[in-house]
Amino acid sequence: MSTLNNQSILEKIKKNEEVFWVNPHMLPVEEATSHTQYSIKDVEDAEARLQRFASFIRVAFPETEETEGIIESPLTEIKEMKKYLDDLQGNSLKGQLWLKRDDQLPISGTIKARGAIYEVLKHAETLALEHGLLESIEEDYAVFATDEFKTFFSEYNITVGTTGNLGISVGAMGRMLGFDVTVHMSVEAKQWKKDYLRNKGVDVIEHDTDFTKAVENGRAESDANPKSYFVDDEHSIELFLGYTVGGYRMKKQLQEEGIVVDDEHPLFMYLPCGIGGSPGGITFGLKQAFGENVHCFFVEPTKMPSMLVGLTTEKFDEVSVFDYNLGGLTVADGLAVPRTSGLVSRLMKNLFSGGYSLKDEWFKGLLHGLYEQESIFLEPAAVGGMIGPYRLMESTEGQSYLKEKGLEDKWDQATHIAWATGGSMVPDHDKDDFLKEAKEYDLK
Ligand SMILES: *Cc1c(COP(=O)(O)O)cnc(C)c1O
Repeated sequence: MSTLNNQSILEKIKKNEEVFWVNPHMLPVEEATSHTQYSIKDVEDAEARLQRFASFIRVAFPETEETEGIIESPLTEIKEMKKYLDDLQGNSLKGQLWLKRDDQLPISGTIKARGAIYEVLKHAETLALEHGLLESIEEDYAVFATDEFKTFFSEYNITVGTTGNLGISVGAMGRMLGFDVTVHMSVEAKQWKKDYLRNKGVDVIEHDTDFTKAVENGRAESDANPKSYFVDDEHSIELFLGYTVGGYRMKKQLQEEGIVVDDEHPLFMYLPCGIGGSPGGITFGLKQAFGENVHCFFVEPTKMPSMLVGLTTEKFDEVSVFDYNLGGLTVADGLAVPRTSGLVSRLMKNLFSGGYSLKDEWFKGLLHGLYEQESIFLEPAAVGGMIGPYRLMESTEGQSYLKEKGLEDKWDQATHIAWATGGSMVPDHDKDDFLKEAKEYDLK
């Protein structure tokens, strides 16, 4: 059994075909990590910062009362969905299949709450320390909820360019702290997202021309203003570090659920991928927590396989899906990114196990199936992980991965987790539209 090399995978990608790609550059965690500038220390530093802010978050966002100001999500085992997929594929998956419920994350209901909120908090902390509002990081951060702090932050701006969910998270946290927030969006972005942000007092600027150019202009404007801070989806290490915490915390959560991960019980993770920050950061954290026993695969739409293209060509952000005449509109709008993050794709070069792509029908079909089987609604961008284990065991590439890593006889004891990246904030009307459309893609 031989795996396809990068060149032949790329040929399939160019033809808009679904692929399963195994990363030929994957290295043992320690070695891979040593090739980056980052380590477990950075993950712990980010976690400590989130802990410091917990007393503020608890006051500012009462929905986090139960978790004492920690923004976290539950794990749900999806047995009915597994049966449905077993049936559909005519192939029984022996291990367990779980969903990591970031659709249930407090404050913004998407995975962005991890990276974006972390970055806004870090910026607020830096400003407060620089200007003497905080004397040290030992203080009780509940002071961030006081009028004194809000008045101070109202002198400062945070700007972001986004087609959606990133703006929601930056907007929600930025405004709560008192910042002036500007969000650049394309006109096609969902109306409810614009309404939501405007209701929070965010300045939403819509662009009908070249969105990439518009974001560049937004960045230039922000850069020219010393009191403005630009949240940079493509190059931000803070976003990345915020996400790493989500992966690292899985260690404790899996223990609490009684899920064993060790040499005999591997863990497989399937992570939706847009620009790469969330799957990349989470993978980095997971690898620090579980070492060689965790295997992380990202999932993209065939129309926007930016990470696949970046990694198989090893051109990272110097290549775009448009170079291959890909890039049509996809239902998985949260993943519609033509060019991957150069920072993240390079950081992940030796850490991802691989990735796969799905046609739009699959995003719709999985959305429908999950709703029917488990009464869980996710947005299209969030569902792609659930078919991951089947792709892994059914594709030639996946099978040789399992063989090479000596995982064949451990497969039956494996845990599979699909990261569900968002959905709870979608208004009923849009939800009904998604469900109606998805119904036509009943996979059976
Ligand atoms: C942003 C987003 C992703 C992907 O995260 P990236 O950091 O862009 O790779 C996945 N799902 C949803 C719902 C998102 O909003």
